[in-house]
Amino acid sequence: MVVVVGAGIVGASVAYHAARAGAVVTLVDAGRPGAGVTADSFAWIGAAGVRTGPAAGLRVTATQEYRRLEAELPGLPVTWSGSLSWGAADTAPQAGPGQEIVDAATVASLEPTLRRPPDRAVWAPGDGAADPVGVTERLVAGARAHGAQVHPHTPITALRRDAAGRVAGVETAAGPLAGATVVLAAGAATAALAAPLRIRVPVETSPATLFRLRAPTGLVRTVVHNRDFDLRQIAPDRLHAAADSPERTLAAIRSTFRGTANIELLSTRVGLRPMPADGAPIIGPVPDVPGLYLAVTHSAVTLAPAVGHLVARELVEGTVEPTLAGCRLDRFSYSSPGS
Ligand SMILES: Cc1cc2nc3c(=O)[nH]c(=O)nc-3n(C[C@H](O)[C@H](O)[C@H](O)COP(=O)(O)OP(=O)(O)OC[C@H]3O[C@@H](n4cnc5c(N)ncnc54)[C@H](O)[C@@H]3O)c2cc1C
Repeated sequence: MVVVVGAGIVGASVAYHAARAGAVVTLVDAGRPGAGVTADSFAWIGAAGVRTGPAAGLRVTATQEYRRLEAELPGLPVTWSGSLSWGAADTAPQAGPGQEIVDAATVASLEPTLRRPPDRAVWAPGDGAADPVGVTERLVAGARAHGAQVHPHTPITALRRDAAGRVAGVETAAGPLAGATVVLAAGAATAALAAPLRIRVPVETSPATLFRLRAPTGLVRTVVHNRDFDLRQIAPDRLHAAADSPERTLAAIRSTFRGTANIELLSTRVGLRPMPADGAPIIGPVPDVPGLYLAVTHSAVTLAPAVGHLVARELVEGTVEPTLAGCRLDRFSYSSPGS
């Protein structure tokens, strides 16, 4: 029996994949599934480009894992528009895996409302974007369909351990939930949940701002990334932008695209992204606490299907996935003093 704590996009993916692989799964969240930082994500599925570091193996498969999930969960709210990135006019763009350098005419054909297409830009045709709450809800529904019990609005207050020190489930305000394995996928709250076991999970919160805007139909066609904003159209008359100040963002969008005089800021939300201390995922069993498993990462909208798939293999089939080798907690000093 596996208890997954946190029904953000990571926990929902772990629960879905584990239940699909045959585990008896309980998914528990303090609130509504997807209502954590996942709800305020820009949600670019950015799998192309530089692929170095411990998450490289996850990123390589990110797009194909989404494609697989789309086949398994029809109607998954994901769009494949490609992404266009450019920087300062005097910097030469570099193309990584899955990317190509395109000229101004190509940029103009991809984004016809640009006032001044850059001379050169990076085009990643395989990139896409998700409705992050919709994907999370679909994963939760998929987990249920494979027999998972789902407990929303049920904060867990502590981890339970048996006399031998093995994790045995969780305590909640509504009573205990038993499980031989507990997966902490609680995003930024993961560190606080592990701390009473004297396990230090080096995850900080990293604020990032999402602007929701009213905009003309069909203004932006791809995921656009430049020095001023990340921008994409999420509905015929709605844009999402990840950027810093509202005034600068509105001014930058107006100076970049034609027909934007009447764009209107509808909301500003600051999301606290879970950010491991070295920026790389923390995924895997906690060596000194049998039964405890961690799943926390940055760029989790991009990585969630790949993470959920591999975590389920480790939990259900007992494999040790080479792709996760660089993601383990023991790359840090993780025992708190007194343990
Ligand atoms: C502005 C912005 C732009 C972003 N852009 C991108 C992007 O383009 N691409 C990308 O891949 N990523 C992006 N991210 C990052 C991405 O959104 C996060 O990496 C991802 O949402 C983290 O998911 P999660 O499931 O780990 O966390 P969460 O969604 O926060 O889920 C954790 C869950 O744990 C639950 N929980 C916490 N404590 C408890 C408890 N005690 N008991 C029970 N449940 C508990 C919470 O209620 C929550 O639902 C962006 C983030 C922001 C804010």
